[in-house]
Amino acid sequence: MKHEISVTKNPAPKEKPDSSTLGFGEVFTDHMFLMDYETGKGWYDARIVPYAPIALEPAAAVLHYAQEMFEGLKTYKGKDGGIRLFRPDMNAKRTNSTNDRLCIPQMDEAFYVDAIKALVGVDRAWIPDRPDTSLYIRPFIIATEAFLGVRPANHYLFVVILSPVGPYYKGGLSPTRIFVEDEYIRSARGSTGYAKIGGNYAAGLKSQEKAHALGFSQVLWLDGNERKYVEEIGTSNAFFVIDGEVFTAPLTGTILPGITRDSVICLLKDWGVSVREERFTIDEVFRAHEAGRLSEAFASGTAAVISPVGELRWKEKDIVINGNRIGALSQKLYDTITGIQSGALPDTHGWVVSLE
Ligand SMILES: *Cc1c(COP(=O)(O)O)cnc(C)c1O
Repeated sequence: MKHEISVTKNPAPKEKPDSSTLGFGEVFTDHMFLMDYETGKGWYDARIVPYAPIALEPAAAVLHYAQEMFEGLKTYKGKDGGIRLFRPDMNAKRTNSTNDRLCIPQMDEAFYVDAIKALVGVDRAWIPDRPDTSLYIRPFIIATEAFLGVRPANHYLFVVILSPVGPYYKGGLSPTRIFVEDEYIRSARGSTGYAKIGGNYAAGLKSQEKAHALGFSQVLWLDGNERKYVEEIGTSNAFFVIDGEVFTAPLTGTILPGITRDSVICLLKDWGVSVREERFTIDEVFRAHEAGRLSEAFASGTAAVISPVGELRWKEKDIVINGNRIGALSQKLYDTITGIQSGALPDTHGWVVSLE
């Protein structure tokens, strides 16, 4: 279905921040995209309007039962001035998969990408162009129906907001300390682990706080059923290089199917590196380290792209991976993916969508 997008320009554009001081998700652009949904009518009234607070009924379903989903992707301004999105069709597809799990209505995937492109086009002057900066795109959907009964809502709001962001690591890639969580769990078989929803994040905060208090930057989640198998690292996917083979948890419903994860696997296969998407235990990781067979570990996600793991603590045991240095594969993956995103490297997989 084709929707027209109306545009109301912001009469009072804000001053743009100095791109050398950008953090993550603190500053928002002049416009946002909105679209409503009503049962019987479908999605309607696609519009770009000035960025502003959203009015909600206190009884809006999202505020009570967390019927909410979100996505995250980035747009980059290359050295050539070109504006590029990285695999936005995958975000559209994942939105529908998440929506299905949360009983939120499906969206037209091609229109979803068009809406993002239209909004980025209106706020294109906000895309920072220093190395490793980008414009973060946050689409999300909330259940807006005023009703306290428990059932899928009949009214929704789809919103897209934009935020200029700085480099994830100010001084370049640096290895992180990770705490293996064996008390709390993030997901279990049949749960919402594969859906990108605020509810999963709210449930993970307690564990993250615990890890921070102990001096770790993130947690490594184990499977919810046996607390044995490696699943994810914080809000990113996890990879371990053992005997030259790359291990990562399979997509069986408990982990988030990362777009960076998919890109990493694809590039590794291009390079002839063996990738094993299968279950492996944290005990195997520690034993491989002991035997000198674990050469690298890293996490993948849109925010940091690749995040090398320098240290792991599981129960009372600490291990240092690759001498707390960035591994060769981590660095090569980071350089390749960010190179494709910025247009500095050729896009051999057709991942980049350019804005005219
Ligand atoms: C978003 C997310 C990821 C990473 O997905 P990308 O598409 O690579 O950004 C991994 N794990 C969780 C829990 C996430 O929410």
